Amino acid sequence: MTARLGSGSLVIATHNAGKLKEISALLEPYGVKCISAGSLGLPEPEETGTTFAENALIKARASAQASGLPALADDSGLSVDALGGRPGVYTADWAEKQWFEGEPGRDWYMAMGKVEGLLQQLGPDTSRSAAFHCVLALAWPDGEHAVYEGKCAGSLTWPPRGELGFGYDPVFLPTGSEQTFAEIDPAEKHAISHRAYAFAKLVAEQFGR
Ligand code: IMP
Repeated sequence: MTARLGSGSLVIATHNAGKLKEISALLEPYGVKCISAGSLGLPEPEETGTTFAENALIKARASAQASGLPALADDSGLSVDALGGRPGVYTADWAEKQWFEGEPGRDWYMAMGKVEGLLQQLGPDTSRSAAFHCVLALAWPDGEHAVYEGKCAGSLTWPPRGELGFGYDPVFLPTGSEQTFAEIDPAEKHAISHRAYAFAKLVAEQFGR
């Protein structure tokens, strides 16, 4: 794959305003004009893949084909070694409340508790190592694509600690740290996160930096 992105418009295959803002800030210094798939009225495809890369590619390809512009999508999640990589691509789904659990939405405390419950069932000597993964997929309307993977290794602690961050941050201790991702200053987290590594690979290949 050669560098192809250059300056110009790039569709960010997300309907999440926070993600668009974060990704735009990272790519604008390279002259990339980021447009969200949501603002173009592009449909959100179903994430039917079984890997982060498959899901990121499904989203990027759908946006590239529907818009005629290059598109970027990301997919991320937590994989726990002792659980065979679960929750993996289902990381967000594990937080989805059931119909009998009140207002629909996501409950991250419940999701972290599910992971912890499974680890405790496996016994006190079970490995607690885990990693956050982020895959960025770039797709062009002619079918060409590129995939960049970033990983942040660590281990899980219990009970959850910290008020910063989101998702599973309060139980994740990046390797070498005694603080969870929800206790670490966000700027510090962004420097060592799975997302930072994936973006560093994309920028190195696409912009030679
Ligand atoms: P998606 O990539 O938007 O499908 O989200 C995957 C899920 O992984 C998120 O909803 C979060 O729960 C989790 N996740 C991904 N990255 C992080 C992170 O940096 N901290 C905590 N949770 C994360």
